[in-house]
Formats: sequence, C-alpha cells, structure tokens
Amino acid sequence: MTTSTTTDRAADERVQVRRGAGDPLVAEAEMPPLGHFIDGAFDTTGPVSAPLVDPSDEHQVALLPQAGTAELDRAADAAAAAFAAWGATTPRERAELLLAIADRIDAEAELLGRLEALDTGKPPSVTADDVASAADVFRFSAGAARSLTGLGTADYVADHTSLVLREPVGVVGVIVPWNYPLLMAAWKIAPILAVGDTAVVKPAELTPLSLLKLAELIADIVPAGVLNIVLGRGREVGAAMSSHPGVDLIALTGSVGSGRAVASAAAESLKRVHLELGGKAPVLVFEDADLEATAAGLRSASFWNSGQECGAATRVLVHEDVADRFVEQLVEQVRQIPVGTPDAGEDIEVGPLISQTHQERVLAFIDRAQQDGARVAIGGAALPGPGYFVEPTVLVDVREGTEAAREEVFGPVITVETFADEDEAVRRANDVVYGLAASVWTRDAARSLDVPRRLDFGTVWVNSHLVLASELPWGGFKGSGYGRDLSIHALEDFSRTKHVQINHGR
Ligand code: NAD
Repeated sequence: MTTSTTTDRAADERVQVRRGAGDPLVAEAEMPPLGHFIDGAFDTTGPVSAPLVDPSDEHQVALLPQAGTAELDRAADAAAAAFAAWGATTPRERAELLLAIADRIDAEAELLGRLEALDTGKPPSVTADDVASAADVFRFSAGAARSLTGLGTADYVADHTSLVLREPVGVVGVIVPWNYPLLMAAWKIAPILAVGDTAVVKPAELTPLSLLKLAELIADIVPAGVLNIVLGRGREVGAAMSSHPGVDLIALTGSVGSGRAVASAAAESLKRVHLELGGKAPVLVFEDADLEATAAGLRSASFWNSGQECGAATRVLVHEDVADRFVEQLVEQVRQIPVGTPDAGEDIEVGPLISQTHQERVLAFIDRAQQDGARVAIGGAALPGPGYFVEPTVLVDVREGTEAAREEVFGPVITVETFADEDEAVRRANDVVYGLAASVWTRDAARSLDVPRRLDFGTVWVNSHLVLASELPWGGFKGSGYGRDLSIHALEDFSRTKHVQINHGR
C-alpha cells in the first residue's frame, strides 16, 4: 500500500513489529466445530464464506458456512420452542446456569483467549481482559436475575390491586461486532438468558471462533434451543434477522450505518431494537490537569485493542496554555508502546488492525487529516507486514470541523485540538453525531462535577477513561444508539413489564 504517510519518514525511526516464534496459536484439535449452532447441535454444511484470516500474519485460518433463510428459520424456531420452558424457569434456576457458564469460561480462559487472538490478532493483555470480563458479566447477570423486580404491589386506585410483572420478551436476535467478539456477545447473552429470553446470535463474519467455542463448551449445560448461533454476513444474515417475524427484539453492537439498517428493517415488524453503535470520545484536558497522569492514562485508553474500541480516548481537546507540554508527554508515552503479534510477549500493547480493508481505511483517514492541515507528531504509517499493523499515531493541529475532529477512526490514532476556555471545550466536545463516552481531566473539584453534566455522552469519566464494570450501564446517546449494556438496566432492556390489576371491590 502506498500513501503519503508511509513514504516520508526513515524506516529506522519507526517502531518495529515484534514477532513470536510463529507456532500455531491454536491446535487443530482445539478448534470449535466450524458451523452454525442450532437447537443444541452444530451444522457444518452449506456454502462457505470468504476465508477467515489471521490479521497478524495473514494466513488463512478456516472457511465457514453462511446461513441462508433455512438456517435462520430453524434457529428462530428452535429459540421459540425453547422459550416455552426457559421463559418459565425461576430466577434461581437461570442464575445457577449462568454461574455454570461463567465457570466454564474461567476454566477454558486460556484457550478462549488464544482463539480470540487467532481471529483478531489481539495481544495477551487484551484477550485475558476480554475473557475475564465475559465470565464476570455472566456472574453479575446471575445475581441480577435474582434481584430484578417489578413495581411493588399496591392499590393505586380504590378497590383495585395492581401488580407489575416483569416478563421475558421472547426470542432476541443479537448481532455482534469483530472488535470484541466474545465480550460483546457475552454482554448480550448474559442478560438475555438471565431474564428468560432465548437467543439467536450472529457473530461478525471476521471473528466467529471464540463464540463457537463457547457454544461447544456450554452445550451440555444450556438447554437445546436457548442459545443458537448463525454464521454469515451482515447485509444478508444480519438484515434477515432484523426483519424476521420470529425475532421479537433485535440487538446490535456495530457501526452507525448498520444501526440505521437494523432499525429500519425492524420497523416493518415493529420489533424492539437495542443499539450500541460507534463513538468519538472527546478527552477534555484542562490547564489544571495532572498532565503526566493524563498522558499515561491515554496510552492505555486510546490504544487499547489497537484503538478499535467504541469508547477509545481518541479526540483530545487540550487547553492552549498547556498544549505543547501535554503533546510532548503524550508523544513520549506513545513512543514506548510495544507493537507485535499475539505470541510476541505479555508486554505487547498494540496488535494489528482487523483486516487489510480496515488498515487501508485508517491510513486513508490519516492522509486526509494531513490534507486538512493536521500534522503527524508521531507514527502515521503502515508497518511492514505480514499483518495489518499501523504505527501508534498522534495527529496535532487538528482543526475544528474537519473529519479528523468529527469521525470515528477505529484505529491507533489520537487527534489533538486546542481550546481557549471551558465553554468552548464543552461546545466542541458535544459537536459530533456520537454520544457514547467522554472524559474530563482536571484537579478542580467543582469542574469535575460540573463539566460532566454538560457533556452529551452516556459515560463521562473524570481523571480516567475506559474503566468499566459489569454493575455500571454502558451505552450511548444520539448517533451512538439507545439501550444499555451491562448493569441491571440491560436486564430491564431485554425484558418487559406487564400491569395486572384486580378489582376486589364488593
Ligand atoms: P459493523 O456494523 O460493520 O458490523 C457489526 C455487526 O453488524 C457484524 O456482525 C455485521 O455482520 C453486522 N451488520 C453489518 N451490516 C448489517 C446490516 N445491514 N444489517 C444487520 N447487520 C449488519 O461494525 P464492526 O465494523 O464489526 O464494528 C465496529 C463498529 O462497532 C464501530 O463503529 C464501533 O464503534 C462499534 N462498536 C460499538 C460498541 C458499543 O458498545 N457502543 C462496542 C463495540 C463496537
């Protein structure tokens, strides 16, 4: 690939991609069955998709079948049939099953991590966190299932006693992105099963392995039909799920464009929609911030998962009085980031991007940013292959209103803009279509309470970024979608209330 950014810097200034011995990450015998998982059994037949490719060395990993209407219908029917019994289980029964799933994930964490690395190229620190967090959301949902209640029973009208029941919705369709294949699936499956729904899940076409392995690992503890997996491309299988009459609610984690497509396909059948979409998280660095701690914090929060993270700290807005000092410290942090393949060591922080197409997209974004007046302070180029690596990059002098200040990059790229006062910082932070996450870096106590209230984002951190917990809601405003993952609110989103009123007047 040639872009202007790849040509103008000496190769020895660039970070090197560290590579391991190149032994297979996953043995043949450890691979999951490569097929749909429907009604408790794998189906590996059918026309195959484009090959799965390891993004860290570009070798072909596997070929998988694509679902057609027949597979989707079978999965939806199996989920509907299983709902009759699963929806009638007690919270305690469901909680026990969720805890058993969490135990299996923990017991096989190492293998699940390697499968995730094979599909995504993630370093061990990221896969270990993904798998541990997936187990944790099942544990949290087990507890939450037993404490979810309706409104207290009472007479709100004379002689009429009301009870508000909380019920499952039925069959939930789930569409998962490639950036956290196991974790994003777990964020949905755990609360869905916790409230008594059954699920039909479509992993991203680039990254199905960890979810298929999970299905294999838990096939003996989850009743047939409660969890089904169909493989295939979004525009075909995802779109068909969104309009399928047998799916009662459709939940997507993905891009804004896919969110729009899912919502409009769902409109025809008026099914409920739950959307976790893209982000462009502003990072407001005030003149009183601890600049060293901020720069160190962004090293992780901006480049975690190679920046392929909807909440990544991508868009720095820094007070003009401290901008030069801050950029210097940030560049120094970024210079130290080890880049490499999943087997290159526990200390690797940044791996490859998911695909060649995505690598080209990120490099083209860096090019256009420079055409719009931005300057590369560090990075800015592809790294020699094999593998889809891009240097950890900081772009400075980014101008208000340009693409770099407004659009999601989804790669290892931080952009830096400056502001003159607090009102300007807040106005510009909010001036994006997204509303997922933001952070504020300040030592001023009043500002740390006041500025988050003025920011139009579903999560606002102060003096931190990208710190999540299963107990706390995650989700966006505006173009970042609606609905909440994690926390008790996810269980609410995947269930429904019913008011039953009894006239006991005599
Ligand atoms: P994507 O939208 O391309 O794909 C996500 C999923 O949607 C895939 O399974 C894909 O097959 C499917 N899909 C694509 N087009 C579809 C359609 N027309 N109908 C139905 N399904 C369709 O997104 P991606 O590239 O896999 O993931 C990156 C995006 O996801 C980024 O924008 C990122 O910000 C977002 N994301 C958001 C969150 C969050 O919690 N808000 C978390 C992770 C990723």
